[in-house]
Amino acid sequence: MAIIAQKPKGTLDLLPASIHKWHTVEQIVKDCAQQFGFKEIRTPMFEDTSLYVRSAGDTSDVVTKEMYTVSSAGDATFTLRPEGTAGVVRAMLENGVMNEGFPQKVYYVIPCFRHDKPQAGRYRQFHQFGVEMFGSASPFADADIIMLAKSVLDGCGLENIELNLNSIGCAECRKEYHKALKEYFTARKDELCQTCLERLDKNPMRLLDCKSPICSAIAKDAPVILDYLCDDCRAHFEMLKSILDSYGVSYKVNPKIVRGLDYYTRTVFEFISNDLGAQGTVCGGGRYDGLVKELGGQPTPALGFGMGLERLIMTMENTGKDFLDPKTPDIYFAPMGQKAQMRSAQLCMEIRDEGYSAEFDVIGRGLKPQMRYADKIGAKFVCVLGDNELETSSAKIKNMRTGKETPTSLEDFKNTFSTLIIEELFALEDVNGDLESILNGLIDSEE
Ligand code: ATP
Ligand code: MG
Repeated sequence: MAIIAQKPKGTLDLLPASIHKWHTVEQIVKDCAQQFGFKEIRTPMFEDTSLYVRSAGDTSDVVTKEMYTVSSAGDATFTLRPEGTAGVVRAMLENGVMNEGFPQKVYYVIPCFRHDKPQAGRYRQFHQFGVEMFGSASPFADADIIMLAKSVLDGCGLENIELNLNSIGCAECRKEYHKALKEYFTARKDELCQTCLERLDKNPMRLLDCKSPICSAIAKDAPVILDYLCDDCRAHFEMLKSILDSYGVSYKVNPKIVRGLDYYTRTVFEFISNDLGAQGTVCGGGRYDGLVKELGGQPTPALGFGMGLERLIMTMENTGKDFLDPKTPDIYFAPMGQKAQMRSAQLCMEIRDEGYSAEFDVIGRGLKPQMRYADKIGAKFVCVLGDNELETSSAKIKNMRTGKETPTSLEDFKNTFSTLIIEELFALEDVNGDLESILNGLIDSEE
């Protein structure tokens, strides 16, 4: 037998055995976002192609080679979301949210699609945690965004990770800078790749972002934007640095960080992991004061970041960080025979109604394979039900960790079990010293 298709190149199947890793980081990013006062926003997975062309700019990697564009009936072409910001700005404008007072602070956890060259840490469907803040030009907002990203990375236990910071100024400062860059690169025109040659006139800052080894070697000695900042942009950058200093956060000013997208202004930053190899950038973000107007709104200062969740999880794996334990069922019912299966199913539902997780045999197997299954799924308790138990309307509930069996009548089953499971959660606290997971277990079972 051969399966008829394989997953598309550059995509990942996230299987049940490791899904707890995703749940761990999703929980952390949501908790952190809420702690900083951000609310979730959900927008469509595809948008009008023109939205991305307009926002990313027609010299960006995304627009020139990475978009998945589909046409549907009629003339419209749609593009699968390569990033989150453009759709969020569109939605905020279209729904009048920008008129509801500032600051507006939103976050999202979304799949993104880019026709990238697949390799470790680079996929064609990947996931981003992103946040956007609208309505503040203050460097305190920049610092808050950076601290939010940092609190996620800290929450995931990552240590060997460096904050790289730069300012790319405003349109004013870039006029002179673009001239200097053009001069520099034109002198070495013969060595540049084809893409960079095309970008040289339109947007010379892109050349600093080229991934070809020759171009990036040339870019090393290029003029740096920090030498060209206007007074306002310089003051903004200095203030941001002193806020970060006051928080005791370390960072590296890296004039080579320019970000891939045209609408960035002033602050740009990346968190780069030293435990990831080539695709070390876990998070990239900055200010994009020009975008809201570009997309048809009032001029509105704005900023945000995108964090790649695959890269985040890979870094955690590479450095042996903890993930939340996979959830295991509280009890497994092992019936022998049809009648017992019916009674097991009823008891199972009673236990679920109490808020606990419970399973029973749905295949009709013998006791041995059932016990193997109970062991595999890590059931905390097991109850075997056969003819004898049905006749006497009683059973034993076995604690799989200690082996202790507790008798109960079937009428009283759920009360007996409630007591046992609570005792067990507290006993596990002693075994693991993990109070938090116990409390979470109790809260979960009360919900
Ligand atoms: P790169 O320079 O690595 O191509 P980028 O500048 O295109 O990154 P952004 O647009 O800033 O990336 O996206 C934010 C984050 O999303 C990145 O820092 C990275 O963690 C993640 N990311 C971007 N592209 C991919 C991809 N193809 N696969 C997995 N993660 C990605
Ligand atoms: Mg890219």
